[in-house]
Amino acid sequence: MMAWRGARGSGGFMVRAVYVGLTCGVLLGLFLYPTDLQRQEEQGDLLQPLLFLALVLCSMSLYFVVSLMDPGYVEHDEEEKEPVSDEKEAMSSQETLNLRLRRCGYCLLKQPMRARHCQACRHCVRRYDHHCPWIYNCVGERNHPFFVAYLAVQLVVLLWALPVAWSGLDFEHPSWAWFQYNLLLLLSFLVVAVFTVVMILLLGCHLYLASHNTTTWEFMSRHRISYLRDCEVENPFDRGIFLNLWQFFCTCRLIAWETLYPEVGGHTV
Ligand SMILES: [Zn+2]
Ligand SMILES: [Zn+2]
Repeated sequence: MMAWRGARGSGGFMVRAVYVGLTCGVLLGLFLYPTDLQRQEEQGDLLQPLLFLALVLCSMSLYFVVSLMDPGYVEHDEEEKEPVSDEKEAMSSQETLNLRLRRCGYCLLKQPMRARHCQACRHCVRRYDHHCPWIYNCVGERNHPFFVAYLAVQLVVLLWALPVAWSGLDFEHPSWAWFQYNLLLLLSFLVVAVFTVVMILLLGCHLYLASHNTTTWEFMSRHRISYLRDCEVENPFDRGIFLNLWQFFCTCRLIAWETLYPEVGGHTV
């Protein structure tokens, strides 16, 4: 069941309002000016305009899902609440848990392996990836697949919006009056172009990370993370691209990563 425990507060409201405002502004630009979508709408050919709006609604819904849901907050010590995991059941007989999980210095809970405390959310987050200011929430074990899905749908919307915005711009007689008249469409085009580049980079990075079963935090800070720095293999959680992607997108349950860890050194992770 999906828990709605994402970061809240006036900051979150402001960020989400900016997102909704930008989306509505771009939509106005695309439908108020003589773009391809507006022409199709006026001719009664509603298939593409409606499909475009449905995709926009889908991307907005995914945005609010990743922004408001629980990213994977650690609520209890592991001894008090055992995480449910097929892998854990499979490995329980092997007695691999000679690892001491460290206690968070802020919320004083035992951190499952791959969890990290987020200062902005004031929680430890399981399989912490990063705190995203755009969604005003952490990206963690629970909402990371939805985050990637959001990036993908948003990118499709942007790649469609880019030529549509361009189709409404007529550069034959550019003048100050032309500039003033087309200002909203020009701004829409610029916003769409910038976000398209950002989304391509973000989606590429996160698909790479997911396919290697690693996180932004682990990728950037390997030298600071004891369970990676002291491990004999480069990535102890990597099970191959297909299994990694399957686990990432198709496993709803939380995973006890420490049970998959090959090291039995008895040291603190
Ligand atoms: Zn903490
Ligand atoms: Zn956070």
